Amino acid sequence: MNKFNPAFIVRENIKKLSPYQAKEIPCKIKLDANESPFPIKLSDFISEVNIPLNRYPDPEALKLRKALAKKMKISYTNIMIGNGSDELIYYLILTFGGPVLYPIPTFAMYGIIAQSVGVKKFESKLDSDFDINEEEMINLIKTEKPRLIFISSPNNPTGNTFSTDKILKIIDTARKNPSIVVIDEAYQPFCSDRGFLPFLKDFDNLAILRTLSKIGLAGLRVGYLIGNENLLSEANKVRLPYNVDVLTQYIATAALSKFYAQIKNFITEIVKERIRLQKELSKIKGVTVFPSEANFILFKVKNSQNVYTKLIKSGILIRDMSSTIKNALRVTVGTKEENKEFLKVLNNILGG
Ligand code: PMP
Repeated sequence: MNKFNPAFIVRENIKKLSPYQAKEIPCKIKLDANESPFPIKLSDFISEVNIPLNRYPDPEALKLRKALAKKMKISYTNIMIGNGSDELIYYLILTFGGPVLYPIPTFAMYGIIAQSVGVKKFESKLDSDFDINEEEMINLIKTEKPRLIFISSPNNPTGNTFSTDKILKIIDTARKNPSIVVIDEAYQPFCSDRGFLPFLKDFDNLAILRTLSKIGLAGLRVGYLIGNENLLSEANKVRLPYNVDVLTQYIATAALSKFYAQIKNFITEIVKERIRLQKELSKIKGVTVFPSEANFILFKVKNSQNVYTKLIKSGILIRDMSSTIKNALRVTVGTKEENKEFLKVLNNILGG
C-alpha cells in the first residue's frame, strides 16, 4: 500500500504558510517574547482553590467580563473573551472575511490567520519614522475594500504608537466602505496616551483588542475584544463554546480583583526600566535605538545576527527581527538586574 501523505490534500493557502515562530531556546535571561519579567504565582493571591472540574466553564465568562468591564468603566456586554487575543483575531477574520489590510512591519498573526482562513491580505509599508502611510492606507481602503483593518498601536515590533489623527481618518474612511478597524492595544498599559477606548462611542466600526499577556499573565491566555454589541454578536457566532477554561476564568478574575494594585506597580516598574534601558542603549556605540511606548525596544546594530547569536551564547535571549527590518533586534524590558546584565554583555560584544 502507498504511504499516505497528508501534504497532498492540504489546502493551497496552507501549503504556502509558515507557522508562527515561537522557539523555546533555553537561556538564563529571557527577553524575547514581550512577557512581564515579574513572576505572578497563584499562591500570591489564591490560598485555596476549590473549583469543580467535572463541569464545563461558564460559556459566557460572565465574572471575568464583569471584572474587566469594571476596570475600564464600560459595560460587560461590550467585551468578548478569547483564548489569548490571537484567538480573537482568528474569530474576527473568520466572521468578517477579507480582504484584510494592515501596515507592516507588524504582528505576524494578522497575515498568518488571513492566509489560514484563505482571505486576501494587503500590506501597507510604514514610513521611515515607522508611522502609518495614511494616503496609501486610505487608497487601499477605497480600492481594495478590505473588510478588516488591523492596526497595532503601540506597534509590535517597532514599539511606537501611530498618530491618532491618521488613525481617526482611517476609521472614518473605513466606516463608509464599510469595514471594521481593529486597534490592537496589546501594549497600551505601557503607553503614555489613552489609546482608542474614548473613541468607541464615536465609531460603530471600531473595535479594540487587548490582552492580559503583557502585564504578567501570559500563561493564562486571556485576550479581550471591546466593541459594540452588534459587532461582538456576529463574532460570537464562530466562538467555540468553552474557549476559556474554568481555571483561567477563575484565576484571571481573582487577579483583577485581588492583585491589580500589584500588577499596576509592575507596569510602572517596567515603564521606568524601559526609559532607563532606552537611555543606556543609546549610549552604546554602534546602536541605533527607536522610541518605544511598549514593554520592548527595537534597536539596530551592524551584523545583528552575529550579535544575536553571541547574546544567546552568554545566556541572553532576545528577538532577531532582521528578516523583517534590516539589522534590527527587539529586546523585552526585563527586571533591573536582567537589563543591566543585557547591557553589559551587549557592550562587551560591541567592543565598548
Ligand atoms: N497583538 C500583538 C500586537 C502582539 O504583539 C501579541 C503578542 N505577541 C498579541 C496580539 C497576542 O497576544 P495574546 O497573548 O493575547 O494572544
